[in-house]
Amino acid sequence: QSQELSHVRIDYHAALLALQEQGTRMVCTGKMHTDRVCRFDYLCYCTEAEEFVFFHSNASVMLPNLGPRRFQPALLDLSSVEDHNTQYFNFLELPAAALKYMPKPVFVPDVTLILNRFNADNLMHIFHDDLLPIFYTMQQYTDLDDEARLVFMEGWGEGSHFDLYRLLSSKQPLLKEHLRNFGKLMCFTKSYVGLSKMTTWYQYGFVQPQGPKANILVSGNEIRQFASFIMDRLNITTEERPDGDDYIVVFSRASNRLILNEAELLFTLAQEYKMRTVTVSLEEQTFASIVQLISAASMLVSMHGAQLITSMFLPRGAAVIELFPYAVNPEHYTPYKALASLPGMDLQYIAWRNTNEENSVAYPDRPWDQGGITHLEKEEQERILASKEVPRHLCCRNPEWLFRIYQDTMVDIPSLLEVVREGLKVKPNLKKSKTASVIHPGRVRQPKCQTSVQAAHEAKLSVSWQIPWNLKYLKEQRFNRPVKVVQHYIMTTAVTTDLARRSLHKPP
Ligand code: UDP
Repeated sequence: QSQELSHVRIDYHAALLALQEQGTRMVCTGKMHTDRVCRFDYLCYCTEAEEFVFFHSNASVMLPNLGPRRFQPALLDLSSVEDHNTQYFNFLELPAAALKYMPKPVFVPDVTLILNRFNADNLMHIFHDDLLPIFYTMQQYTDLDDEARLVFMEGWGEGSHFDLYRLLSSKQPLLKEHLRNFGKLMCFTKSYVGLSKMTTWYQYGFVQPQGPKANILVSGNEIRQFASFIMDRLNITTEERPDGDDYIVVFSRASNRLILNEAELLFTLAQEYKMRTVTVSLEEQTFASIVQLISAASMLVSMHGAQLITSMFLPRGAAVIELFPYAVNPEHYTPYKALASLPGMDLQYIAWRNTNEENSVAYPDRPWDQGGITHLEKEEQERILASKEVPRHLCCRNPEWLFRIYQDTMVDIPSLLEVVREGLKVKPNLKKSKTASVIHPGRVRQPKCQTSVQAAHEAKLSVSWQIPWNLKYLKEQRFNRPVKVVQHYIMTTAVTTDLARRSLHKPP
């Protein structure tokens, strides 16, 4: 009974009475539709009309009460992607008295989180847009605990990694298509609608070309805590590896964007770094076994692509080597660089690009979504074939971009080794590298200025202050983690004797 709603019995008549008398209640956080998450009592959903319904009664609450602005453009974003016009949430309104004429409601007793997944067939999107935001939205509201129910309203099927969504709570997540099995009118006793965007670091290029978000609010610490939660739920334990048992993981793709000389690449990496090399692919291993391997690897090498999101499972100090096909500029596609560069992620990141067209195999005859271009005008095809770099572009169907990114690549080993040697500041080393937590000092206390005249042409100004309150504890205690103190206070005490003398002689 995967779609059974709950083993907890609820008093149906009490719930119906509460809905009829109190109606729906909504209280939200956030000033704008782009940063809003709403909490509801008795939010209902009509499965035939595919609309959420707010029932008005004397006791209903709707905060914010936006009036018609609720539709300009929406109450909130239902996915974590900012202001995407296919991801808006809103509800229709009815007086609670209308319930008398409506199908009998089915109540969902669980505390529910209602959201849209953005792209459940792509591992990068699954982690960045869904799993991380769901995990941290659940941390924000304590009643969204392990018993919470997730409801995905984007309307897709399970997608390619539904098991990953199952890790977030003990209850089976519901898809939009499941809802109609329960009845015509469903009422969520307690629900939250929308997702926190606090943990996302990348924007996909809907209004400006893709790139890291302008105001990143997440650090490696939160990513790593989420990653260890996922590993925990996947029953992955990382054992301490004996010295000298370091290894490199090459993450390959089996169906497109291939590395054509993978064997040669593996052999050279093993020789250069005196380490074992292993290949993994989503086609050949389970996700859990891949994460297990990556979680103790010294280096992860892969073509650009969604599989690189697994670099969040690398140990601190490891290196990420991202390979780009011919005519694709690594600086223009940086979700994995941005991830590796988050403060506290402690990963070394290096990009390599194929600059030799002869080492590239393109597929102009494939369907457009796999990079084919034969559906385009002849002139346009010729322009694309002659171009040496894909110009910056918006998401998501730029044919030149798709054509280039779906090329296979023969990796030029000497040029790769050169880039990696140049880029790796230290040999990838995981040995217990614990990060410093950054401590910001409190304000300077009891500042004092003392002046004294030393001689006719010499004055002294001395400035002293008490150590900021939190820093004195750093001195006294031993910490098991190194602590880095960021000094905000810079005092300039350059005083020329002449100036000092003059100010000293100024009348009060
Ligand atoms: N994928 C894969 N093997 C392949 C090609 C794709 O496992 O040979 C996976 C990939 O990791 C992603 C999904 O299929 O999760 C969609 O891949 P796509 O090429 O559309 O996206 P990209 O990897 O460029 O983000």
